Amino acid sequence: MIMHSCSSYLVKAIGLTQALLALLVHGAKSFIHTRPDGFVIDTFRGGDFNDLGAWHGPGEGMPFDGGDGYIRLFPVNADQNYHTQLSSSCFDLRPYNYMYLHIAFAGTDKFSISLNQNNKQCDPGLSPYPETWDTVEASRYAISRYPLQNDIYVPISHFKIDLSRVVSVSFNGFYSDDILTLFRVEVLPDIPDDVSIPEKLPSGTMVLKCKRPNSFAFGIDDGEPYLAQHLMAILKEEGILVTFFVVGRGLESLESNFTQVYREMLSLGHQVALHSYTHPKMEGLRTIEQIDDEIVQSIDVMKHFLGIESRYFRPPYGIVGARTRERLAYFIDDPYIVNWSVDIADWLYANSSMPEMQLKSFEHDVKRGGDLVVMHYLSPSTVSYFRDAIRLARETGKQIMRVDQCMEDPDAPPLHKQTPYKLSLDPESSSEPLEES
Ligand SMILES: [Zn+2]
Repeated sequence: MIMHSCSSYLVKAIGLTQALLALLVHGAKSFIHTRPDGFVIDTFRGGDFNDLGAWHGPGEGMPFDGGDGYIRLFPVNADQNYHTQLSSSCFDLRPYNYMYLHIAFAGTDKFSISLNQNNKQCDPGLSPYPETWDTVEASRYAISRYPLQNDIYVPISHFKIDLSRVVSVSFNGFYSDDILTLFRVEVLPDIPDDVSIPEKLPSGTMVLKCKRPNSFAFGIDDGEPYLAQHLMAILKEEGILVTFFVVGRGLESLESNFTQVYREMLSLGHQVALHSYTHPKMEGLRTIEQIDDEIVQSIDVMKHFLGIESRYFRPPYGIVGARTRERLAYFIDDPYIVNWSVDIADWLYANSSMPEMQLKSFEHDVKRGGDLVVMHYLSPSTVSYFRDAIRLARETGKQIMRVDQCMEDPDAPPLHKQTPYKLSLDPESSSEPLEES
């Protein structure tokens, strides 16, 4: 990739590009009278707002600097991102669904481009926000046309989201520390004749909330074996089923006893699903082979030690980009990539001086409509707040169930078989020890 640092040179290059683009757009217009024009989203003229008057800016601490007509991103981490919004509520992109997202850039093409879909209420104050997104690999669509600038043209139709509720374009999933400079983001009705568009690769269904009305699901990730019995006792007593996302290497480790733990969870009716093999930031892995290893080995371990398969996958740290999603879709038929809309924030507070903030974070997200949880059982404090979390979830009137059930998966066990029951009223179960940690 071409790199440069001379900004006056850049400005000239941008000026030239804009003239060429104007020519292109104008040229296209004269041939196709019935089509609406595209529109410019961002030319990075400085400040917090783009050409549409909507917000643009970095996420997860992405280092950046900018000038008049460009922004430079210095990614150091796969979860960093940069968003440029079409609207903070909902932008209807349907009239443009046959057009192209055009990005003029320089530097690395080792990143993903996402089109983000807002929640049904088009409300940034609700959770999740955004509700979902679809993603493509920049490198598959990038072409070099000018000495100092590359272009990306992605058909809007390659983003499988609800186009009536678009909130932003984002740049994420960086798997290189190289700099990315963005000059222009826009929607164009046509592309240059010599540009060929790659086929759209399937990228799995990305979910952050339940589909079934009035449902609520706990997705529980990594844990400490010594807390498993305590957690299981709570689950039994509360009479709820949950989904465990399990790291393959933990499952195969003999010292951890996790195989026994999850066999028991399965026998009690809980769902057990995939959470990678070694828990890396998968999208940040440099090669496709490394990503494939994480997926294939986690599938193999689950089959070998538990005798099950799952098409539900929770990405470690919630980090996904186009490559992870595409490889999941390659190995797993119709995968569900399960992030969350309720974060108990145990990763932040469990071992802090304010462990009670876990419950506050949980409540905060539940009140905003979140219904799909991320939590762990790595700390006694998180487990000690679990009953309260269940109570808060029940107070919404929603029914607690496994993730596959809340997704209305036809292969999920039927709901009526696990109508909420109170095992605590059953004398046999009350004799069971509640705490064995
Ligand atoms: Zn995890």
